[in-house]
Amino acid sequence: MKYIVVSGGVISGIGKGVIASSTGLLLKTLGLRVTSIKIDPYMNIDAGTMAPTEHGEVFVLNDGGEVDLDLGNYERYLNVTLSRDNNITTGKIYREVIEKERRGDYLGKTVQIVPHLTNAIQDWIERVSLLPVDETGETPDVCIIELGGTVGDIESAPFVEALRQFQFRVGQDNFALIHVSLVPVIGGEQKTKPTQAAIRDLRGLGLVPDMIAARCATPLDHAVINKLSMFCHVGPNQVLGVHDVNSTYHVPLLLEQQGMVKFFERRLNLDLSRDVSAPMKEKGLELRRRWKELTSAQERTVDRVEIVLVGKYTSLQDSYISVVKALEHASLRCQRKLVLKWVESSDLEPQAETDRPVEYHQAWQHLCSAKGIIVPGGFGKRGTEGMITAARWAREKKIPFFGICLGFQVAVVEFARNVCGMFDAGSEELDDDCKDPVVVYMPEISRTHLGGTMRLGLRPTLFSDESKEWSKIRSLYGNEPTIWERHRHRYEINPEKVTTIENTRDSVSGSLKFIGRNEKGERMQVAELTDHPYFVGMQAHPELASRPLNPSPPFLGLVAAAAGLLDEQMELQSKQYTPPHPKSSMILESEASSKEP
Ligand code: GLN
Repeated sequence: MKYIVVSGGVISGIGKGVIASSTGLLLKTLGLRVTSIKIDPYMNIDAGTMAPTEHGEVFVLNDGGEVDLDLGNYERYLNVTLSRDNNITTGKIYREVIEKERRGDYLGKTVQIVPHLTNAIQDWIERVSLLPVDETGETPDVCIIELGGTVGDIESAPFVEALRQFQFRVGQDNFALIHVSLVPVIGGEQKTKPTQAAIRDLRGLGLVPDMIAARCATPLDHAVINKLSMFCHVGPNQVLGVHDVNSTYHVPLLLEQQGMVKFFERRLNLDLSRDVSAPMKEKGLELRRRWKELTSAQERTVDRVEIVLVGKYTSLQDSYISVVKALEHASLRCQRKLVLKWVESSDLEPQAETDRPVEYHQAWQHLCSAKGIIVPGGFGKRGTEGMITAARWAREKKIPFFGICLGFQVAVVEFARNVCGMFDAGSEELDDDCKDPVVVYMPEISRTHLGGTMRLGLRPTLFSDESKEWSKIRSLYGNEPTIWERHRHRYEINPEKVTTIENTRDSVSGSLKFIGRNEKGERMQVAELTDHPYFVGMQAHPELASRPLNPSPPFLGLVAAAAGLLDEQMELQSKQYTPPHPKSSMILESEASSKEP
């Protein structure tokens, strides 16, 4: 197993995740099997209890792990399926050591950060790096380890020390380090001093960079590369410039052009003719070809498709990173440039007209000119009336619409209120005294513990037989009778209201049919309007499984409908839809609940 650590200096949030996943992708093009581990030095056990506006979206894995959004980057770039253990946090590692101590595993000893915690970190990395992550079911060859935060922080100190020791545990040939740094441009001049200081800190902690990835607004000047090489004690070939590019999909090629692959082949003593089988090599070449094609297709695209995203966490766009990526993947397939307009849902509410008139009118202008509307997931009351308004607009004006999780729930509330005449219809989440709840708390969910207790992870949805006749979403899923997507929710459509809702018909948009349910048929998971160009709601989060080369069907439907290409794409999907999840990860509800922590 070869380990490549990606750490960061100077500031956080400079694209370590993209550089790490691009490195992994490049190694994959050689035919190697690549996995990844993300280390988050915060105390939370996982990202599940953090607001999206804090660290960005909470990514959900097949096994129900609620993890850092960087794992989404890895899954998308490397086309792998990771597990909750691929995300290590300070909370998780301390919990493990403390549980061992209570069991008596260290009996007689004083338990310390060094060596007990640092050993636990190294053991964890070694164990998890061996887990198969792709359809071959075989042990990976390379593990990319991304260390969150910046080196020198108090939080990351035990991890830095563990990695320092780890290079000796696994041997020099099997361990390399990329340090991502920042070269600011001040008055037109690229400044190297912050990177010099960052590398000094790194060396002081016993880690030697094999490669410095220098983030910069502009391409690095030769003189700057030479200066960094001299002051940071590395060869000029070990300094790579990563300047701002239009799309992050260009980063792998940018790194490749500067010799990254050749460097690691030598540095890690990779013998590709010996270690990589002919079919894997072929797969790698194919991946490289398709990736190149994808980036150049993106460059060539000129026609635009406009989508309006109505959400409640729009102040931090990373809150919806997978949704945005899924829209991008779908747009790429449709050969359209995605133009995404952000609408904070509360700006659509009547109160905003007096409180924030400019935002109110702008939000309405976006909504009125929308070619496609998406309402993603979320928690809590704020902004939900605005989402309901957006769903109504889309339904009545026949604008393509896709509601995800909360977006699905509000679309059902809207239909109940405005079509079924259930004027008090609402959700128990949004109104404690709701008189007519069409969305209710799921009976099995804990009311006292919020961490890791939602209905989480990969779950099946079974389509009704009659949906085959007319459903657009079903045909986008290649007419499969059963589909698997990841879930994360506490509330569900009230099963008692389903018959009333389904049996009411609107003269403009038709009926809202719950065509996809769980395996027992009692949980509503997909709804679609019968007489609408495209109006779909899903309880799951299909954005989490979208891939650049395999866009998620409901997103494809939305973008294609907005671009006037829906029939064409439905036809294509019926021939080439491939489910993104390996069969091995598919487990039924009954089995899943016994596996949850
Ligand atoms: N808040 C809703 C629920 O818990 C929706 C969750 C979501 O959008 N992820 O059911």
